[in-house]
Amino acid sequence: MITLKEALSLSADEIKAFREELKSEIEAKKELNAYVGMEESGEGIPLLIKDNIQVKDWSVTGGSKILQGYISPYDATVIINLKAKGLAPFGRANMDEFAMGSTTESSYYGKTLNPINTDCVPGGSSGGSAAAVAGGIAIAALGSDTGGSIRPPAAFCGIVGMKPTYGRVSRYGLGAYASSLDQIGPLTQNVEDAAILYDMIAGYDPKDSTSVDMDYAPVSTALNPERKLRIAVLPHYLKDASADIQKAYVDTIEVLKAQGHEIIEAELLDAKYDISAYYVTATAEASTNLARYDGIRYGTRAKGDNLKETFVKSRSLGFGEEVKRRILLGNFVLSSGYYDAYYVKAQKVRRLIKQDFEKVFETADLILSPVAPNTANKIGELQDPMKMYLSDMYTISINLAGLPALSLPVGIAKNGMPVGLQLIAPAFDEQTLFDGALGLENALKG
Ligand code: GLN
Repeated sequence: MITLKEALSLSADEIKAFREELKSEIEAKKELNAYVGMEESGEGIPLLIKDNIQVKDWSVTGGSKILQGYISPYDATVIINLKAKGLAPFGRANMDEFAMGSTTESSYYGKTLNPINTDCVPGGSSGGSAAAVAGGIAIAALGSDTGGSIRPPAAFCGIVGMKPTYGRVSRYGLGAYASSLDQIGPLTQNVEDAAILYDMIAGYDPKDSTSVDMDYAPVSTALNPERKLRIAVLPHYLKDASADIQKAYVDTIEVLKAQGHEIIEAELLDAKYDISAYYVTATAEASTNLARYDGIRYGTRAKGDNLKETFVKSRSLGFGEEVKRRILLGNFVLSSGYYDAYYVKAQKVRRLIKQDFEKVFETADLILSPVAPNTANKIGELQDPMKMYLSDMYTISINLAGLPALSLPVGIAKNGMPVGLQLIAPAFDEQTLFDGALGLENALKG
């Protein structure tokens, strides 16, 4: 598959021919179930878009039954930006319903398979985006990351996935899951493509009140893989990771040392606090955001005898099991009497997690961390919701702290599946993140 960088130098005729070829490739790899809709709009370099990002005149459903039949009346800001750069949305990527999940098994359209081994999940919730890029049926894709939905899918499929600093990329037109955590980001074949795609979508947007109004300096034209950095490593963090992940982590530290980086040992709070704070915060926000799907304002209506029955029927029939579980959890932690005990407490823990990272960044430019405790799970392995929540242990603290992070493939495990690790940078220092990642990618190629 050509890279995004290469695609940008193609002529209009070449792009046209490529689009036709791509269509038949997608058809040939239908089994992966990575695309849930081939809705081309316009001409240009074809880009795969997660099914929760608004594209004008497209069906956009968040992988949910309740949004079947909804046609988006507008483009998300990221889509407007991409179109302006000669890219064209080309197909919708499968995802866990409303981005709630870690496996892409909860979609209304059925599960997506991992192209490296189709007995495995591609990770979630941006599993369609990752499977398509890894399977050679997308040049690049957009995903969204609330607690890791870009990074573990990238790691499980052996590609690059990047979550920007919270506030860096407009959320206008992104189907809201947990608004204080959600960010759109790129899934690509390599680090340079991720930087190029990130540059295209990043920057201030007055339509998103949490978008940060600061000068934006493009990163892809300033990449410097030779920079020597101070990289913090987290030996105590490894205890819950599989032997394959541990080995890849130790090997990668050696590669970083050989590159001339300074390695610093650091510690972060135990991940158990991250899981609790995240699943209280995310479900609370989700229950509020999903209240709009009542069959009247939004969502397919299942008519009842009165208004209340219409709400109940529409929501009961329209939402899948995991989404209902999160709405129940969210309503519980926000209910009077429990609000202080759960929600407020989670926000306090969130502050501590943020400060914990800030402390490490006083002496380090980047942090190296696992992305997931293991390589891609087998299909069906994470049916137990608690098991699934725990699998997010290495990614969610980064969303709680609002930091940028990039997952890149560092090797292959004994079972033949890719291993990804992530670099984490201080807020708004995406340049250092990409510089470090590109340097590591180059060194691993060598
Ligand atoms: N797996 C996490 C969750 O289910 C993260 C999902 C995401 O980032 N959208 O909430």
